[in-house]
Amino acid sequence: MKNAILSQRDLAVLWHPCTQMHDHETFPLIPIKSGEGVWLEDFEGNRYLDAISSWWVNLFGHANPIINAALKNQLDNLEHVIFAGFTHEAAIELAEKLVAITPAGLSRCFYADNGSAAVEVALKMSFHYWQNCGQSQKTKFITLENSYHGETLGALAVGDVALYKKTYAPLLMDVMTVSSPDCYFREEGESWADYSTRQFVHLEQTLQQHANEVCAVIIEPLVQCAGNMRMYDAVYLKLLREACDKYGVHLITDEIAVGFGRTGTLFACEQAAISPDFLCLSKGLTGGYLPLSAVLTTDKIYGAFYDDYEKLSAFLHSHSYTGNALACRAALATLSIFESQDVLANNSILAAKMTVLAQRFLNHPNVAEVRQTGMIVAIELVKNKTTRDPYPWQERRGLQVYRYALSKGVLLRPLGNVIYFMPPYVITQDELTVMFDVAWQAMVNVTTK
Ligand SMILES: *Cc1c(COP(=O)(O)O)cnc(C)c1O
Repeated sequence: MKNAILSQRDLAVLWHPCTQMHDHETFPLIPIKSGEGVWLEDFEGNRYLDAISSWWVNLFGHANPIINAALKNQLDNLEHVIFAGFTHEAAIELAEKLVAITPAGLSRCFYADNGSAAVEVALKMSFHYWQNCGQSQKTKFITLENSYHGETLGALAVGDVALYKKTYAPLLMDVMTVSSPDCYFREEGESWADYSTRQFVHLEQTLQQHANEVCAVIIEPLVQCAGNMRMYDAVYLKLLREACDKYGVHLITDEIAVGFGRTGTLFACEQAAISPDFLCLSKGLTGGYLPLSAVLTTDKIYGAFYDDYEKLSAFLHSHSYTGNALACRAALATLSIFESQDVLANNSILAAKMTVLAQRFLNHPNVAEVRQTGMIVAIELVKNKTTRDPYPWQERRGLQVYRYALSKGVLLRPLGNVIYFMPPYVITQDELTVMFDVAWQAMVNVTTK
């Protein structure tokens, strides 16, 4: 009964994210008492395998002993200090590390406290850079169809997921939205690389016509996560980097979801051997412990703001919790795990196991596609495999998958009708098998109705 009591108290006073609260008249909330590794436990002893890393933030499990210890130690010394005029060791050490491990040329780190805020910072910095350089006609941003960059107004404006954006359209700045390299739409037999290359023509054309008024292109490298885990080939990023250089436009890569080993390399950009002008990081940055984000940028951009105060060229953006000491410490502990263990090699073994386990979904009559990039596997459910007609959204089949899987002890949270797996890196092969088995049962159950 403890679950029900907490749920009742919650629903009396709380308003949850990404939720029609009315749903909770029929779907129970799940109060979590504790977590350990990939497992979450509620107040009645039920356990749930966290197959989505608690919204893509957790890398090394809940209650990770290394991160716990680092945080306890930090807590006894410094919890937080104003980050203007003052600094502290954790923030300095983390910036040094981020500069060292991110793609070449990124030499400056600006902190914010969540992913959307990092995107706002990158957009403002890019715009402001061009202002400082006397190019005040540059005021626009280019983004891709089906992209997602967060939900504050600026971040929402450069995203393209209608579910989150449409209502607020009158409040949002105008952007140029270009057809995406999303390989779900490639021709039969066409490779990801060929389709992604072919789709680049749209971006090239837009740059050709509008570069003069454009500050930056913003992109999620390799995987459009919130956009139903749609994927594309790294060649697109290579072409994009070349075109941004050619046309004098910044490249902002949003690795908030895909950074820190999720796609097989430490950063997704590495697969195209490119460096952006701005790199946004958050989510996995603190191992899923505390809100923190960082925008990495170049000497050149930093230099355009660096001048006598009277020139009024400084970047004055700030958040109260900028560079929070506890969050920086959690991030350092997370990075220390990458240093002490061969995480990427282990992930590639886990990813290979995921490939094998996903095989059985391929031939199911309601599966249009099974796709994978590193530690992300997505299964696209459709009503008709041949025509790819989707299920009517009103049927909420994804939600039914969620509910069924929960009853079997696995936390899946399909995006629409796309079931996906994005587990913490500490998952075992046996736990992967459980996760895929339950997803299979859930899918069969929900597609035969
Ligand atoms: C989650 C996400 C964001 C927003 O981060 P929040 O911390 O939720 O504001 C931005 N971009 C991408 C690619 C994301 O996945």
